[in-house]
Amino acid sequence: MYDLIVKGGEIIDPALGIHDKRDIGISQGKIIALEHDIAANEAKNIIDAKGKIVTPGLIDSHSHVADGIITIGVSPDECGVFSGVTTVCDAGSTGCANFMSFRKYVIPRAKTDIFCFLNLCSTGLTVIPEIWSWNTIDPEATIKVIEENRDIIKGIKLRATGALVKNLGSETVKTAKGIASEVNLPLMIHLGIDPEENVPENVVNSFTREMLSLLDQGDILTHIYTWKKGGVIGRDGGLLPGLKEAIQRGVILDVAYAKTHFSIEITRIGLEQGVLPTTVSTDLTAMNINDSVYSLPVTMSKLLALGFNMDQLITMTTINPAKMLKEEHHRGTLRAGMSADISILELAEGDFLFANGKIGQTFTGKSMIVPRLTLKSGVEIETKPRFD
Ligand SMILES: [Zn+2]
Repeated sequence: MYDLIVKGGEIIDPALGIHDKRDIGISQGKIIALEHDIAANEAKNIIDAKGKIVTPGLIDSHSHVADGIITIGVSPDECGVFSGVTTVCDAGSTGCANFMSFRKYVIPRAKTDIFCFLNLCSTGLTVIPEIWSWNTIDPEATIKVIEENRDIIKGIKLRATGALVKNLGSETVKTAKGIASEVNLPLMIHLGIDPEENVPENVVNSFTREMLSLLDQGDILTHIYTWKKGGVIGRDGGLLPGLKEAIQRGVILDVAYAKTHFSIEITRIGLEQGVLPTTVSTDLTAMNINDSVYSLPVTMSKLLALGFNMDQLITMTTINPAKMLKEEHHRGTLRAGMSADISILELAEGDFLFANGKIGQTFTGKSMIVPRLTLKSGVEIETKPRFD
């Protein structure tokens, strides 16, 4: 006897190699069975998932959910369970000086599970650009906060902004990498320098090349399809020297769509050149949650329109981000014994017009991935799909 059965859905679980109709039996918040047919009389409650896609709870590997701590923070549950996402990773909203506010006042109130990458800047994204002098970095305090909060902190975040590249250069990457190695966690690097920052091309290129050579297996490049200076894929189709070697070393590539970091052309070039992301994420902030980004399922729908397939996208939003967070034994799959974090999605057909943020481009798609119901540890949560 189960508490709940999710019945008749099309299961996509890349970690288990399943893309097939299955039923899921759930008891006490955990997945107990994943079988072709579980009799309806074996449970107190049935969720009819016929015609729906059922996946492991989606994971957004790059968002900003330090709501109320930084001005660009968004509600973790708007970004999370209300959008079919059961786990979010905050990418550097806080640093060693304000992480505890995040931990004490935001994380416990969310239904969505939250992990984070701690910003190398002590005050995180309180002010942008955050790193402009060595006084904004405190390696000792950063290590102490990580050691005391390893259950939540899964890595270090460094944004390679124009101010950082011009004023401090690649020594910051060495500092970040030194801390990351000491605490044995990955380093996530933000790519893309705003044109207004006027950093000379040769300075950007030598920074990016050196940065890339410092990254190891498990480190992450985020905003891989950026059109800005300092990206890894050029408009002329040229890849940054060292990129293929970095990919071979096991460096993770993350999309982090955002409002200003995504280019359709660069994505197409990336696809042609075989530069595929490891993880698909939103970079949701207060600036883009109601304008052009909306949610992880909307971001996935955009990539679907640009030529990715559903299995790739579910891989990039379930087991791959779970591995990035070293959480693959706890989430990212529907294997029996896992917590019942499940996304029930509908693939709606129609004519959809997608906006590409600040760049002012639009493009069309024929499908929209709509979150219809989220299960978090077996508890049903109604979704609030967003798109206009
Ligand atoms: Zn970000």
